[in-house]
Parts: sequence; C-alpha cells; structure tokens
Amino acid sequence: MLRRIKKYILSGVSHHQKDETNRRIVVLNLFAAVGVFLTFLLGCRAFFDGEYSLSTTLFTTSLIFAFSQRLQVRFPTAISRTLSMTLLIMCLMSLTLILIITGGKDNTGPLWIYLVPSVTMFFAGFVRGLLALIAFTIASAVILFGFDDTLLVTNYTYAFKTRLLYSFLTVSFLSAFYEYSRQKSYDTAVYLSEQFERQANHDHLTELLNRRGAQQCLDREYARMLRSKCTFSVAIADIDRFKSINDTLGHEQGDEVLRQISKVFRSRLRGQDFLARWGGEEFMFIFTETDEIGAVRALENIRDLLNKAPLQINGEEFHVTSSFGVCEVTIETDVSCAVRRADQALYHAKENGRDRVCAISSITSSPISDKTPSKVE
Ligand code: GH3
Ligand code: MG
Ligand code: MG
Repeated sequence: MLRRIKKYILSGVSHHQKDETNRRIVVLNLFAAVGVFLTFLLGCRAFFDGEYSLSTTLFTTSLIFAFSQRLQVRFPTAISRTLSMTLLIMCLMSLTLILIITGGKDNTGPLWIYLVPSVTMFFAGFVRGLLALIAFTIASAVILFGFDDTLLVTNYTYAFKTRLLYSFLTVSFLSAFYEYSRQKSYDTAVYLSEQFERQANHDHLTELLNRRGAQQCLDREYARMLRSKCTFSVAIADIDRFKSINDTLGHEQGDEVLRQISKVFRSRLRGQDFLARWGGEEFMFIFTETDEIGAVRALENIRDLLNKAPLQINGEEFHVTSSFGVCEVTIETDVSCAVRRADQALYHAKENGRDRVCAISSITSSPISDKTPSKVE
C-alpha cells in the first residue's frame, strides 16, 4: 500500500528533469489526489442533499483534477506538464467562481478562494501566476460588485464581499511575494552551484579544464567508447625548458606564456576535442573518436603553429616549443594506463631532443611498461 502511494506521488518524476520541475510534479500529484477526494466527497454530500447543480459541478471538477494528473503521467513532456498545471489552475479558479456565484453549501463557497493564490503561484510561477491572479481578481470583483448583483445566485452582505476581496488580495500579495523570493533564492542557488561546479573543474589561469575536469572527461569518453566501440586518443604536452622561461622572464610572464600557449593549443582543436591543464606546464588533449595517427597529425599541426607563430611577451616576440606524447585509448587499455603510456611517449619525445610529437606505438626500442617514467633533466 505504502509503495503504491509512493509510486503515485512520484509518478512523472524523473532524474533527467530539474529539481524544481520534479517538486512541482509531486505537488501536482498530491494536490490532484486531495482535490479529487474532496470534490468527490462534497459532490456526494451535495447530491444526497438534493443540490444537484452543486454536486454536478463538484463531480466535474473531480474528473478534471484526475484528468490533469493523468495527462502529465501519460505524456511526460514539458508541454503536457504545462497544460496539466494550467488545467488544474483554471479548474480551481472556475470552481471558486462558481462557488462565489452560487454560495455553495450555506454560503460557505467563497471560503475556497484562499486556495487560489498559493496554488496558482506555485504551479504557474511568479509572472504567469501574477497575471492569472489579476484576471481572477477582476472576474471575482465583477461577480461580487458588478451589474447590481445580478451575476450572483445568492446574497452576501456588502461588508462580507469587501472583506472577502481585501483578505483575498492580502493573501495574493503575500503568495506573490513569497513566490518571487523563492524564485530569486532558487536562481541564486542554481547560479552558485554552477559557479562552484565550474570552479571545481576549471583552471583559473588558462580557463581550461583542470585535472579533475580532464579526469571526468576521460571517464565519460571511455564509457562512450565502450558503447560505440570507437576509440579515442589522449596526449600530454609539456612545455620545453619552462624553468628557464620562468628564470628569464619571471614567474608572472611565465604565467602569461602559459595563457598564450593554451590559446594556441585551443585554436587548432575541433569542437568535440578537449584541452585541459593537466599540471603546472603540462596540458592534456583528448581527441574524441580519433585514432593515434589522427591525433599525431593534429598535434603536428599544433606544434607547427607554435613554431611559426611566436608568442608576444612584453611586446617582444618569444619562441616557445612543446613536446607531446600520444596514446590511443582502446577497450584493452584503460584510461589510467593510456595516460601513463602517453606520459612515457612524452618522456621519449623529451629524451629525443624535445619539440616533437611521439606516439607510444612508435617506441619500439624500449618495452612499454605501465610505470610512470622518471623526470628528464
Ligand atoms: P623540460 O623541457 O624537461 O620539460 O624542462 P622544464 O624546464 O620545462 O622542466 P619541467 O617540466 O619540470 O618544468 C616545470 C616548471 O614549470 C617548474 C615550475 O617552476 C614551472 N611551473 C609550474 N607551474 C607553473 C605556473 O603555474 N606558472 C609558472 N610561471 N610556472 C610554473
Ligand atoms: Mg613539466
Ligand atoms: Mg617542461
């Protein structure tokens, strides 16, 4: 039983949707259930009391509540959700207006008016909710005060009508204010969490992905490769003799060199490839759906560009080179193994004179071990 209730409350909820949407769906399910139950119960009472028009109205409302709930479950799209929530609000508003006109049971019908502001604001959001509430207020005022009471089937005192409208306006104002503050807080929370997420994955100097971002990217690509069986390649670049650049230009200009190099690297990448700052002056390239030959070709292009276009440091031209190590990631080579091999290839490039691209498969003289190479001096 409990499982069925939980299943009903969560029907339409999906982890692909925003938290805000899921919360609205849960409330819609709950509201529809309570609405169906109450209107059906009151409809039965009205029927047995011989108030057939009231009971018909309540039964119809009950059906519409149930329909709007089923609509968002059967068709889990944004349009049907909006339609379902709009239907629910319109249904509640129409029922309330009918209850104001007829007075409902012993003139207690208008009391349901206080449900309208919070439900409307919650489902429609601040702007649309406000517009809907303004329209509803105008309609209620016309019914209560317009056309010399000819729109009313029952009688209310003037004091009751004015107090009803004033208190309704107060509740509407408070609900609108609450919804506005809630939406602002929600937007701020989403913005902050996006900022934190970005900061956690990005390097502030070059604005590239950092090591954590690169690792996530590698894991994602590996999972994708397992599905598509299409290999990808990973490469590590290390700036040549960067210590002496720092010594010559100073650490600050060294940072500027890193910034400019990252731009040169990025300028030759395809939209689907990734570039990350892997460590101090080490960068990682992730070439999606690319074999080793393709990755080497792309890196030779980048190396060529770096050689032909000197950096502009302090208004002067400055030549910087980089070495690259490449490894193709296949189902047999897992990600960490591929990174270690790319590092080995990089070590080989350094050992063989720097300013070159070296693929792990081209290293035939030394057997490929999975140990991290020691530093080249
Ligand atoms: P090699 O050609 O063998 O790579 O020689 P190298 O001098 O580049 O040696 P290594 O790769 O070990 O140099 C790393 C240097 O990079 C040491 C460190 O001072 C510098 N470095 C690391 N991170 C930063 C940074 O964020 N900014 C600056 N300016 N320098 C950094
Ligand atoms: Mg280094
Ligand atoms: Mg270096």
